[in-house]
Amino acid sequence: MFVRQLLAFSSVSLLILQSVSGQSARPAQPVERSNSASTPAPAASPAQLQISFNSVHVDGPYIALTFDDGPHATLTPKLLDLLAAHHMRATFFVVGQNAADHPDILRRAVREGHEIGNHSWSHPNLGRMSDEAVRRELQKTDDAIFAAIGKHPTLLRPPYGSITARQKRWIRDDFGYRIITWDVDPLDWKRPGPSVVTNRILKETRPGSIVLAHDIHPPTIEAMPATFDQLDRKGFKSVTVSELLAMATQVPPKPTPIPRASALPVASPGAVYTPPVTTSTPGG
Ligand SMILES: [Zn+2]
Repeated sequence: MFVRQLLAFSSVSLLILQSVSGQSARPAQPVERSNSASTPAPAASPAQLQISFNSVHVDGPYIALTFDDGPHATLTPKLLDLLAAHHMRATFFVVGQNAADHPDILRRAVREGHEIGNHSWSHPNLGRMSDEAVRRELQKTDDAIFAAIGKHPTLLRPPYGSITARQKRWIRDDFGYRIITWDVDPLDWKRPGPSVVTNRILKETRPGSIVLAHDIHPPTIEAMPATFDQLDRKGFKSVTVSELLAMATQVPPKPTPIPRASALPVASPGAVYTPPVTTSTPGG
């Protein structure tokens, strides 16, 4: 009897020992976050940990209008007039060589509340280039923007949206940039006509959207008065990309799968829809 009890006791102890040592020997569970640094600061919001964005989750009617490839000598000032008249802010992803040619336009844009981002020096496909060549493209443009406005950009839009995951990481580490693509693309560079551009933007834009357009095509600028009017009528407010990122709120968490159906206390009320991450289409 006593022997049996002793045996039972020791086997339980052995089990406990095994489970304890098993736990301590197991490596820490990986953090379920794709873009996080190894030790995220506890107070960091989800948006601060993320490197790249095509849109954000916001609680409000906020969007970011972005214009690429300029500045253009006449079209960009015309666009700035329109933005001012409609009280809209925008982000200009400038090509470095254009920025170097028109620093006065960049200064005006910043004075009027807009943001300037890096769009490379000569608009190449960064995803197919060596790190050294990419670094030169970004640095020259960063320098030109700094020379014009006295501030370094904090955002990069890769031409055509082309960039590798590895490039994103070292560019974030070395330049401090966040990578900005888009979720609304009216394909205005194909010059489909101003009303088509307006309709495409109006159809696709939702709160948190990042809208892509180009301030080097006359029909795009022609499309903007009607676009701004209708966005305004729908209650949208355009802010800079950095402002939009700062507003980002946590996407409501997906319901965690529960292993046994019997463990479910009650049927969970409607699962929260999390939009799929879309990949960038050529453009930018
Ligand atoms: Zn571009």
